[in-house]
Amino acid sequence: MRVLIMCDMEGVSGIVTWDQVGGGKAGYPEGRELYTAEVNAAVRGAARAGATQIIVIDGHNAGGDWRANSLLKGELDPACEYVAHHNWTDYRAPLEAGVDACLMVGYHARNNTPDGVLNHTISSAQCRNLWFNDDLVGEIGVNAALCGHYGTPVLMVTGDVAACREGKELLGDGLTTVAVKVGLSKYSAHQIAPQRAREMIEEGAYQALQDRSAVAPYAPAPPVTITMEFGHFDTMMAYTPREDVELDQPAQKLYSRADSWLAAWDKMWPF
Ligand SMILES: [Zn+2]
Repeated sequence: MRVLIMCDMEGVSGIVTWDQVGGGKAGYPEGRELYTAEVNAAVRGAARAGATQIIVIDGHNAGGDWRANSLLKGELDPACEYVAHHNWTDYRAPLEAGVDACLMVGYHARNNTPDGVLNHTISSAQCRNLWFNDDLVGEIGVNAALCGHYGTPVLMVTGDVAACREGKELLGDGLTTVAVKVGLSKYSAHQIAPQRAREMIEEGAYQALQDRSAVAPYAPAPPVTITMEFGHFDTMMAYTPREDVELDQPAQKLYSRADSWLAAWDKMWPF
């Protein structure tokens, strides 16, 4: 069984500020510790469930050379392999070869979710809202669609209550969720000790992999329209129009249409 662990930092237990997830910031070393330990918990659960290959993809943009490069390598569980500093949504070789399940660790809710800790979609300045056909999505949706394009289901999402709720709304009640904090605002949360969160994530990963048919791969019905609403007028003005991508300036939206989600995504990303 080959398992992909896609991970992000904002939904990790103990993390509530940008300072903890921004490369070079005072809180970043603590954030990396919390992040790496939580990813390790999912690795342990997957290994216990019988995974023979576990590939961790760091999906957090901490800025600069820290982009997708926040895991503390020396502390990673030896049972995993990992991918660092690669362009977001761009590493597809394992999915092309066949991945049995994806687990998402440390995810955050989409932009403008009131109880979503550090909520955003890609970047608040760039993107206010994102839709795949009629589905309003955040980053859980983006990575679920990437996996779904290759027939891989997402079986677990961990993060705050808002991220877990968003995951179930999109992927169904068969999704295993592990809520490690309750968002009180964008920058505060009622939390449990990270050590307990890790135990819950390890058990969640183990349980999620017991039934790989519990969640259908997420694949927006073709032909697919991706609609993105820009975060600011200025970011829209900075956007360079591309072939086959329609820009509606008064609405501050772009539309990318194609026969598959991946083709539509590749036409617009990175925007
Ligand atoms: Zn992130």
